[in-house]
Order: sequence, then structure tokens, then C-alpha cells
Amino acid sequence: MWEVHDFPVPADLAKTAHLDAAGYEKMYRESIENPEAFWAEHGKRIDWIKPYSKVKDVSYDASDLHIKWFHDGTLNAAANCLDRHLAERGDQVAIIWEGDDPKDDKKITYRELHRDVCKFSNALKDLGVKKGDRVTIYLPMIPEAAVAMLACARVGAVHSIVFGGFSPDALAGRIQDCDSNIVITADEGLRGGRTVPLKVNTDKALEDCPDCKTVVVVKRTGGSVNFVEGRDHWYHEICDAASDDCPPTEMGAEDPLFILYTSGSTGKPKGVLHTTGGYMVYASMTHQYVFDYRDGEIYWCTADVGWVTGHSYIIYGPLANGATTLMFEGVPNYPDFSRFWQVCDKHNVSIFYTAPTAIRALMREGDGPVKSTSRKSLRILGSVGEPINPEAWMWYHEVVGDKRCPIVDTWWQTETGGILITPLPGVTNLKPGSATLPFFGVEPIIVDGDNKVLEGATEGNLCIQDSWPGQMRTVYGDHERFIQTYFTTFPGRYFSGDGCRRDEDGYYWITGRVDDVINVSGHRMGTAEVESALVAHDKVAEAAVVGYPHDIKGQGIYAYVTLNAGLEPTEELRKELVTWVRKEIGPIASPDLIQWAPGLPKTRSGKIMRRILRKIAANEHDALGDTSTLAEPAVVDDLVENRMNK
Ligand code: ATP
Ligand code: MG
Repeated sequence: MWEVHDFPVPADLAKTAHLDAAGYEKMYRESIENPEAFWAEHGKRIDWIKPYSKVKDVSYDASDLHIKWFHDGTLNAAANCLDRHLAERGDQVAIIWEGDDPKDDKKITYRELHRDVCKFSNALKDLGVKKGDRVTIYLPMIPEAAVAMLACARVGAVHSIVFGGFSPDALAGRIQDCDSNIVITADEGLRGGRTVPLKVNTDKALEDCPDCKTVVVVKRTGGSVNFVEGRDHWYHEICDAASDDCPPTEMGAEDPLFILYTSGSTGKPKGVLHTTGGYMVYASMTHQYVFDYRDGEIYWCTADVGWVTGHSYIIYGPLANGATTLMFEGVPNYPDFSRFWQVCDKHNVSIFYTAPTAIRALMREGDGPVKSTSRKSLRILGSVGEPINPEAWMWYHEVVGDKRCPIVDTWWQTETGGILITPLPGVTNLKPGSATLPFFGVEPIIVDGDNKVLEGATEGNLCIQDSWPGQMRTVYGDHERFIQTYFTTFPGRYFSGDGCRRDEDGYYWITGRVDDVINVSGHRMGTAEVESALVAHDKVAEAAVVGYPHDIKGQGIYAYVTLNAGLEPTEELRKELVTWVRKEIGPIASPDLIQWAPGLPKTRSGKIMRRILRKIAANEHDALGDTSTLAEPAVVDDLVENRMNK
């Protein structure tokens, strides 16, 4: 059990940081008071073919909702990630690829990546891909995934990446939703020593997608695959045949760059559409400031390119900044639980960015697998995806970072394109569990149920008052759903769907999704706090808390608890945990029911799906809703079987 306390900026880091706290405040104030001037200046970090003269044209009014940034400028996203670096850093490594097997790795320079992208761009054109076409990418974490994204951007096609762990049905649904007539896939993927039948899945998906008439197949494992004459093409063959000269297509700032479906934690995934100019400005600026990225450093984000974190912080942000970005094909526990840290040592990683689900899973195995590695190269640690429990934060800081490395807990969404609330290393004093303060240009607002703005230290619904350049522009093909989902609950503001608390220092604490809030005898409670109290117990690895119908209290607290590796559940422990939470938070938060959970239902990106747990707790497990993004359906069967509320 760690003693959780605050962490002032270490003196040595403060000396080298780009900014100090006063500098941040000044720049932040400028960005809010005069966004036009602020972004007119910072928009220049991207190379424009035709410079913009207009900066911002936004209305959050539901009857005329539109969001435009830099809209009379033109540019090409791939040229910003590649061509503009060739003169100065053509021979610098752009991508370090670390394979699933520790013996497999590869380094690709900016010049090589540029050549590969140009070739594949020409190959795509030969296959008939034109500006504005939607291209589905269903690939494992291999360099060809980066090449495919950048080639789409180069020719002006809109990529829609579907995570390689998704089923044929989920793939088909996404191909149909964006009306895509080409898929780029691989023979097989490789994760944790096991193959993933990507081509088989694609063939199956395409049975339901009659308009999808072209498939490009990357040879990853060499496993034998079915090949449909006239429809299927080997990636290496079409690239070999293509020229490496491909001028980038001139794109308007507001031309679409990609579509990406959300994780599906709260319901059916939404096809989030991002455009080119504002997104590139925002992804590159946040990557530089939030990770304090410095030339020559090795930067590693462990996300998959199938998630927005992979888009903004493996590919577009880092490559726009001329960084060296590491792409990892494997999983944290293969060949063993030391893998992340072995990779850090092997490639001298300075900046490491991962998700709370991974941190909790590794923490569960104890300190040994971490301590057997050096991790001397690490300078900055990051977290994204869910609230990070203070206990997990402390472990990450003390054990992984050897107390040296600041942690940036970055709050953002697929919809926001880039990080909105986050500490800046060397600038922000840290509080474990808090995403701290807003990034430049971001004005968080907390409102009550009636859209009344709550000032000072308070708790409520997290909205953003005005637009920022990386904001999504629409739900693909369903602008009405865009307006309904984000702009009608609290008219005049962007509603995130998350709840949050602001403390007396103005720090933001994400309390979980508003849909997950529990109301016990009239007291409203976020899930994060109760879960964190449970996780702070020595024996608990992970916990998920939901409300369930309770005759007297309205809602009772139902906790699903996963114990540390090797521990057996007992009745005593159950009682001990109730007493523990009562002591940590207060009697109002005592769990009414605790169910032992060998595993929790999660999205494929590792987020706990409380809406499913809520159904089980309410005995409504016959109607679980959209489960297409569920990682391990078997986990649900066990929880239904052993539910406490029969
Ligand atoms: P869907 O919108 O389909 O339900 P999703 O919200 O899980 O899925 P994402 O865009 O991947 O889709 O996730 C964004 C959400 O993740 C945020 O709204 C928030 O709930 C959570 N989140 C991300 N980063 C953080 C963080 N640092 N702290 C707390 N919560 C976070
Ligand atoms: Mg969401």
C-alpha cells in the first residue's frame, strides 16, 4: 500500500523544461482570451501548401452546427510527416519496429518510409483509389500499417482503421458504415506467440460487403491463405511494380483525413470523422508539449494504431515532429511480464505512454518483472484510456519510473483528436489520479444537470466551452447523431459524457462516465473513487463498481473484484473489503455486494465495460446491448453464472 501524496516538479526537470508554471499560465490565458491570434501563430508549426488567412469558424448552435479551422489553407498530412524532414533528417530513424518475437525488429529511416509510402500511394492509385474514397485498414502492428495510413493521406483517401483483434462481423459493420470498397489486410497477425487469421476474417467479412471489390494483402507470417483472383493483390507485388515518385495531393484543411470508430464502452461505436489541418496542428503540438519531446529521443506509445491514441501519438503527432516512434507488435506479457521494460532497455526509450489496464495487469504480477530491468533511459511516463487509480499511479511512479519520471495522465477522447487535460512535464505539480490542468486552447466547464455553470471546487458534467483545432467534425454519414450526442444535452457546449471534479487548486479529476454515476440514498458517486479505494487494498488487482436497484437506497453498490495473482477469495476477505472501503471513503460508499471476478469485461482497447456489469448486477443479462467490441466474451458468462443478485 503506497502513501499517496502530491509531487512537485523536480528541480532538475524544471531547469530544462520549455516552460515554467508562470509561462504555462500566460500562454494558457492568451490561448483562451484570443484563440484566433494564438492558433494563427501555432498553426504555422505545420507546412501549408497554401497558407491560411482564416483561423476559426465555429458555431455550437444546434441549428447551424459547424466547426472549421484554418479552412482556406491547403496542405498534405503525409508530406508533413515525411517530405519536410528529408533534407534535415532523412537518415534519422522514423520508426523502430519491435516484433512480437523479441528477436524480430527493424529500423526505418525517414527516407525509407517516404519511399515506401510513395510506392504504396502509386499502387493505391493504380487500384483506382481517389481523393475522398474510404479505405479500410485491418492490419496488425507492422510498419505497413503506418505506410498504409500515410499513403491514404498522401493521395487524399480517408482511412478507416479497424483494430486487428475485431471479428469478421465487426469489420463488416465498419466497412458498410463508411461505404468503403477496398480493404488492406495481412495474411495473419502475430500476438503473444499466436497467429490471428486476418485474411480469413476479411474473406468472411466481405461475404456481407458486396461493394467491397479490392483487397490488398501484406505477407506477415507467410501462412497459406485463400486468394481471390481479380479481387486480392499482394502488397509487395503491387509496391514493387510502382514508381517511388508520388507528389502529395493538395488537400483543403477541412478535407477528411480519417474516420475512426469509438471504443464502444457506452454503446454502439460512432464513426468519428477528423479533418486534416486542425488535426495535424493539434496532434503535433500536444505531442511536443505533453511529452516534452526533444530531438533524438526514442518515444514509445504502446497503443494499437486501431485506436485514436495510435493515430495521434504513434503516427501523426510524432512523425509530424520528426520524432523516432516505436511500434510494438506484441503484448505486455509475452514472452513474460518483463517485456515492456526489456523493450525500453533494448531501444533506449525515453518516453513511455501506456494505459491503466496494462499498468494494473503488470502490477498484479508484483515488482520482480520490473526490477529485473534497468529502465535508466526513461524520462517521462504517460497514461491514457481510463482514470488511473492513485494506487496504480504510485506503483507506476515508484517502481517503473524509480521515482524519477513525471507521469502525464492525459484525458481525451476519440472525438477530441488529441489530449485536452494533462500535466506538462517540468511545469505541472502532480497529484496521483488527477489529469490536472487543461492544454492550451481548451476551456473545461463543469455544469449541473440544468446546464448551470458550477464555479470553483465542484463536481458535475464535464463540457468544453469552445472548439479546439483537433475536434471531430461530424459522425460519418450522420451529422444529426453528432449534434444529438455532443451538443444537445448542454446546449452551446461540447459535452464529453464524462463526469469530473475540480479541486481547490483548479485540478480536474475524471470520475468516470456520467452514465455510470451511482445514486445511493440521494448521494451521487462516480465509479472511479470507489474502485480506487478497492484497488488500494493490498490484495486487490482490479475492481469495477456499478449501481443496482435497491429497495431502500434506490441504488446499491455492486463491486466486481479481481484479486492479485495467486490469491484465493474468502468470506473474511469480502468483509474486510467492505470495512476497508467504509474506512477509506465513508459508510455511504460501502459495497452492498462484492462478486469475485476472475476477469472483467473490457473493450478490445482494455476499458472496463460497466454497462455490461450493470446489466448483470440488475439481473438483466439477457439484454447486454452491443457487445461487438467486447474482448473476451467468456468473462461475461462466468460473471453471469456467479452473480450475487439472483
Ligand atoms: P464510446 O464513446 O464508444 O462509449 P469510449 O468512450 O471508450 O467509447 P474512447 O474515445 O476510446 O471511446 O475513450 C474516451 C474515454 O476514455 C473518455 O471519455 C474517458 O471516459 C476515458 N478516458 C480517456 N483518458 C482518460 C484519462 N486520462 N482519465 C480518465 N478517463 C479517461
Ligand atoms: Mg466515448
